[in-house]
Amino acid sequence: MTNRVGDPLTQAHTVLKNYFGYESFRPLQQEVITNVLKQQDSMVLMPTGGGKSMCFQVPAIVMEGTCIVISPLIALMEDQVEGLKRNGVAAACLHRGVGFQEQKIIEDQARSGQLHLLYVSPEKLLSQQFFDFLKHVKINLFAIDEAHCISFWGHDFRPEYSKLYVLKHVFPEVPIIALTATADKLTRRDILHQLRIKEAKTFISSFDRPNIFLQVVPAENRKKQLLSFLSKRPNQAGIIYCLSRKSTEDLAYKLRKEGIIARPYHAEIPHAERQKTQADFLRDKIQVVVATIAFGMGIDKSNVRWVVHYNLPKNIESYYQEIGRGGRDGLNAHALLFYTYADVIRQQQMLLNLPEDRRQLQEAKLDRLKHFTEAHICRRKVLLNYFGEELQQNCGQCDVCKTPPKTVDGTVTAQKILSAVYRCQQMASAQDIVDILRGNNNTTIQQQGWHQLKTFGIGQEIPFAHWHSYVHQLMNMGYLDIAYEANFQLRLTPKSEQVLFQQEKVALQHRVAQKVQESSPKPA
Ligand code: ADP
Ligand code: ZN
Repeated sequence: MTNRVGDPLTQAHTVLKNYFGYESFRPLQQEVITNVLKQQDSMVLMPTGGGKSMCFQVPAIVMEGTCIVISPLIALMEDQVEGLKRNGVAAACLHRGVGFQEQKIIEDQARSGQLHLLYVSPEKLLSQQFFDFLKHVKINLFAIDEAHCISFWGHDFRPEYSKLYVLKHVFPEVPIIALTATADKLTRRDILHQLRIKEAKTFISSFDRPNIFLQVVPAENRKKQLLSFLSKRPNQAGIIYCLSRKSTEDLAYKLRKEGIIARPYHAEIPHAERQKTQADFLRDKIQVVVATIAFGMGIDKSNVRWVVHYNLPKNIESYYQEIGRGGRDGLNAHALLFYTYADVIRQQQMLLNLPEDRRQLQEAKLDRLKHFTEAHICRRKVLLNYFGEELQQNCGQCDVCKTPPKTVDGTVTAQKILSAVYRCQQMASAQDIVDILRGNNNTTIQQQGWHQLKTFGIGQEIPFAHWHSYVHQLMNMGYLDIAYEANFQLRLTPKSEQVLFQQEKVALQHRVAQKVQESSPKPA
């Protein structure tokens, strides 16, 4: 092919067209590719389906040599390699499932420069034997897919990813591109730190999926609520996420009894059967898949019209990833989440066996999700804020926007909280701040000398639960941040300065959401 004519960017366009059959780059792809072609390190944040792969596949072909792609999931790796081969791109993958003979052939191809891309699992990559072999390959790029797996702060930490720092030591001249669909601000920083990348250009494409309507309802009688939801969506394909394998089977059975073509999907169902379910769903032979989180990794069905969370997911990253399977075609889709406090407790229980520090982190993340479900402001604002993006206007496409709750002028309340955070030199957790405002003189407060602050006890008349709610509301609106890495201390943001020093008005929801019990009515 004539892909090495013209300047690198022209070559990239040629490759995009000749190999992949696309006319133009998507937003950000061209910027990322330009950076990679300049041999610079890059960090790419794009939602699932945004087109991350092209960001390393195209440069891998344009540049001389082989791109080594590190990917955690064998199935995804094989899918990608198959796809590439179909497009005439020389690609292969190595993981523990590949036999000795085949591995030798692939290694020979790589050594003699015949491969554009070589996918490897992190375990494979980090074995001594493989590392020695890599030294004989002309490597043009390391692409680290699902890069959030490297960070302890991410939602899917994989220990074998944490040794990837050796790449920069051993191959300092080879550029690295780290890609992920879900990483909050802290995780992002940590990824670069873990990879020993000093200066990476970070590319963040908007996480907004404006065509997905966001709704959270307290679960009262979930099955009835679900059937009513489905009755308005005859024949529309959708996914229901449940927490347990058993409940996926129970629910699928109940739906079938109501005449809805539904099938369960979870990790214990035999492989062949799972594949059939996927295939039937893709071909619209099944309307509903009732699944645990095992479903959806890499599945590319464009016309999923709704996603229901029958149970609470474990954090905002998972929630976002799962609802992102809806509306891939750009047409409207609906995300419905059933919220019960019982589910919060179930999620907490699932964390009990984790090592202490990871448990705390996951609990804090669960807490953020809980705040999202209790949000009194545009849910999309909360969601995007979590990923470090600011939405200027209310979205109009969420339940809060459709029926806004009443708010009061909470400027003074907000100022009290923010100035307490400020006076504690941002070393206090949410709990500490509430204790300070309430004048609760406990050991921590004594030790830190916070009882001497001017803000100590200025909010005694307001109950704990209300203060907590106000703190969470401020967090949801981006006036406060949590430093997960530093004992969950509250941090001020540029936005909080406007309230503290420029008298910016803050509207707060006055009625505090009660803990939603199974049967309680929807909080306003
Ligand atoms: P991600 O890895 O971000 O989830 P993919 O790289 O799998 O996304 O891309 C999602 C889909 O978009 C794929 O079907 C891919 O072929 C397609 N795609 C990527 N880039 C382009 C482009 N520039 N023009 C048209 N389609 C594209
Ligand atoms: Zn909204």
